[in-house]
Amino acid sequence: MKRIATTSLLPLALALSTLGLSACQSAVEPVGAVASCDSQCQQQRFSQLSQQLIDELWTLSPDWAVYAGNYQYAEQMVLPDASQRAAQLAFVSRWRAQLSSIDKAQLSSSLQTDFALIENTLDSMQWQQQRFKRWQWDPASYNVGGVIGRLLSEPWGSEEDKLKALLARMAKIPDYYAAARINLDNPTREHTELAILQNNGTLGLFSPELLERAKQSPLSDADKVNFEQRYLASRQAISSYVTHLEQRLAQMENEPAKSFRIGETLYEEKFALDIQAGMTAAELYQRALADKDYAQQQMLELTKQLWPKYFPDGPMPSDSKQAIRTLIDHLSVKHVARQDFVSEIEKQIPELTQFVNDQDLLTLDPTKPLLVRETPEYMRGFAGASISAPGPFDTGGNTYYNVTPLDKLSPEQAESYLREYNHWVLQILNIHEAIPGHYAQLVYSNNESSSLVKSLFGNGAMIEGWAVYAERMMLEAGYGEFEPELWLMYWKWNLRVVCNTILDYRMHVLNIDKAQGLDLLVNEAFQQQTEAEQKWRRATLSQVQLTSYYSGFREIYDLRDELRASQGEQFNLKQFHQQFLSYGSAPVKEVRKLML
Ligand code: ZN
Ligand code: ZN
Repeated sequence: MKRIATTSLLPLALALSTLGLSACQSAVEPVGAVASCDSQCQQQRFSQLSQQLIDELWTLSPDWAVYAGNYQYAEQMVLPDASQRAAQLAFVSRWRAQLSSIDKAQLSSSLQTDFALIENTLDSMQWQQQRFKRWQWDPASYNVGGVIGRLLSEPWGSEEDKLKALLARMAKIPDYYAAARINLDNPTREHTELAILQNNGTLGLFSPELLERAKQSPLSDADKVNFEQRYLASRQAISSYVTHLEQRLAQMENEPAKSFRIGETLYEEKFALDIQAGMTAAELYQRALADKDYAQQQMLELTKQLWPKYFPDGPMPSDSKQAIRTLIDHLSVKHVARQDFVSEIEKQIPELTQFVNDQDLLTLDPTKPLLVRETPEYMRGFAGASISAPGPFDTGGNTYYNVTPLDKLSPEQAESYLREYNHWVLQILNIHEAIPGHYAQLVYSNNESSSLVKSLFGNGAMIEGWAVYAERMMLEAGYGEFEPELWLMYWKWNLRVVCNTILDYRMHVLNIDKAQGLDLLVNEAFQQQTEAEQKWRRATLSQVQLTSYYSGFREIYDLRDELRASQGEQFNLKQFHQQFLSYGSAPVKEVRKLML
């Protein structure tokens, strides 16, 4: 559930919405369809084309290159204006034409997947601009802070490289925000509030310390003078953008703003492009409703079973949801001491590896160990755990399991966090993040069928779905020896994923209000009020993304059932896992075609 902090997983939607025009467009050699081009020749041609496409995409969106860990484009910045949008559409049609010369059937399964991912990326670019039009209504899509923060904090280049990149970018910041104002036609209230918050955060990056840092740096005297001028102009541009947004927010008191709800048509379209599932959003919603009932039913059975053990003197409440909640609260007190949080996680990793090996669930590559470390300071946004995998430009780098120690939290915050990640949930978290979840999947994805296309355009629903699938699979294989307490906590955890899908769909398509949303999360999924409020807010600001965990899980689980039914005695779980992971981070529906 935690964000995977890896450079190989880009916020593609973000990247696409910030794509820009660059002065230099690499010319692409036209490729004619030659009848004599055989399979091998088609494969070569396609590999060459996809490399050219990516190179051109870097220049169209240098920000995206930086997010991918390619710092060659650090000094370039594009303005989000009409000519940029025209360049983006031209890119889409030019590349569609190029790809039409490829005979897809002649490609290997791995390249067919790449082909599908590229086609989807082109479709998304066009759709974002012409149908979704975030550039007109999301003021938070304009913020120079993300890339600049990254350039200043990530380990790349020298101090001079970093400041020179900033110097070049700052020259364009006033024009950048001027273009943003022109684009914004009908912003939503929620995204306007977010943009004010986030751009104020960016102002914080342009601090007196930054100016001092430049003055102390190896920059030339002339550059230092420029730096100060541009620094001041940048501050001015950002604060005036914030003021402008505050005024628009005030106007919204009189005339209602555009709704954050995107409605059924756009929701289905976005779902098809972002999730790439083998079903519609409406179908997934129906599956989620059934899974919610099933999880609640399982929780009730487990509560009946466990009640006498923990409450020998009191009868179970007749309200089943109240009984479940009471038991969960009671159990959550069992958790690791706050100072042992990181070391406990470190201790569990070899145990999980051992279990996967003993049960023969998956081959784990011992030459690519997972290193547990305290989250580096510059990555700490909130307490949590995440995986940092080496990006496509850092082959041979280590894979880290970042765990943030709880020493910065107040005693109350730490207690609440530890109850959330109690004795049982912490084990499920480690399965999800590490073994055999995200870490194992990323190792396979990087080794078995790695391609730049897959690491840049990989399918988020498959990646999250695998980690969610791993949780259930491990428990079904007997991890934790079928302890009822572990299963009870598992179902609560699983219910969160299921209800993310339900909430997102009901909010954007079925128009539920906040009270109805909170009722779902608190009363049906046993969440705390604060957690539920944060989830509601997140769902107002994103669309569809919250369904990715459950949709990926549902499709992987369905595919396994399908194969098990058709193969009968022949079905082998380990073989299923290895084959499934061998296709890289491809959409489950594409993997399904290749496996059936
Ligand atoms: Zn995850
Ligand atoms: Zn406690």
